[in-house]
Amino acid sequence: MRDARERAAACIGAQSREIIFTSGGSEADNQAIISAARLGAQGGKKHIISTAFEHHAVLHTLDRLESEGFEVELLPVGELGTITAQQVAAAIREDTALVTVMYANNEIGSILPIPEIGRVCQDRDVLFHTDAVQAAGHIPIDVRAQHIDMLSLSAHKFHGPKGAGVLYARRGIPLTNLISGGAQEGGRRAGTEDVPAIIGMAAALEDACSHIAEHHARVSTLRDRLISGLLQIPNAVLNGDPVNRLPGHVSFCFDGVEGESLILGLDAQGICASTGSACASSSLEPSHVLMAIGRPRELAYGALRITLSSENTDEDVDEILRAVRETVLHLRSRCLQKGDIPVRMTE
Ligand SMILES: *Cc1c(COP(=O)(O)O)cnc(C)c1O
Repeated sequence: MRDARERAAACIGAQSREIIFTSGGSEADNQAIISAARLGAQGGKKHIISTAFEHHAVLHTLDRLESEGFEVELLPVGELGTITAQQVAAAIREDTALVTVMYANNEIGSILPIPEIGRVCQDRDVLFHTDAVQAAGHIPIDVRAQHIDMLSLSAHKFHGPKGAGVLYARRGIPLTNLISGGAQEGGRRAGTEDVPAIIGMAAALEDACSHIAEHHARVSTLRDRLISGLLQIPNAVLNGDPVNRLPGHVSFCFDGVEGESLILGLDAQGICASTGSACASSSLEPSHVLMAIGRPRELAYGALRITLSSENTDEDVDEILRAVRETVLHLRSRCLQKGDIPVRMTE
């Protein structure tokens, strides 16, 4: 455990005592936000700044705090799915207890200007938490250089085991223990530790972090080829920032296609994809993320998310391109018979 803590800390530029092992990203998000809220409330600060397209682990925690009397301000993220540090600076008030902004969005892949936002928060003396679940192990993180007070990460997002995560909290930030019980994790997280999962997480994080540059170059090349290929399909819209995005992340909306049918069609051809967030794929509502970047409802229903890793190949990309193209055109031709699709077929 001590060794795993040191390794995990080293990967994000933290000290080992600043690492709290949790059951995953959701728990880390909950604990960071609730701790900051409790701390703020003690000083009469009940204003929290976040964004409209955070993961539900953040948004639902904020909902809860709102019902307890906190004022939550969600910044708009624009069509490319990002915010600026200036937006944060303009929103900070005397009574701001916390700024919580995700490092990269899980559904559309855009990367947010976390170091700049961190600097603004530091200058204004406001606690800053980032949900870095999508970023950790994929892009370089240094909590000191990037002015991050608290950060969440999750092992299964970098090929580690499910059910393990980390909350980093800068030394001196008192944390609220969400679970009453024993004195594990320095009294900050009760309950017997899942030692195999924690050791697996530290090994996976160390492995991912030591290959970031190499994997980033390889995977983003595959990603860009996949994106340009998919853009050839008529009425296909890329979601998220075309340039400033996670190396392996591809997100599209296909007009006139139902995302769920597309996923099933791809699954039958051995391709694992998702409509948006894997966590929300059982929900029938259009994604709050796609709504936040202004996609119309009909388009948001046709969402496809594909994530690539360093284990994917050029042949995989060819195969995905062929399968997506065929499946999209097939689904549209079926809809055409029903006469309810506004898309002109090109082949
Ligand atoms: C997956 C994810 C989470 C939740 O992490 P779990 O370990 O599944 O609880 C939180 N935030 C983001 C951005 C995620 O992608």
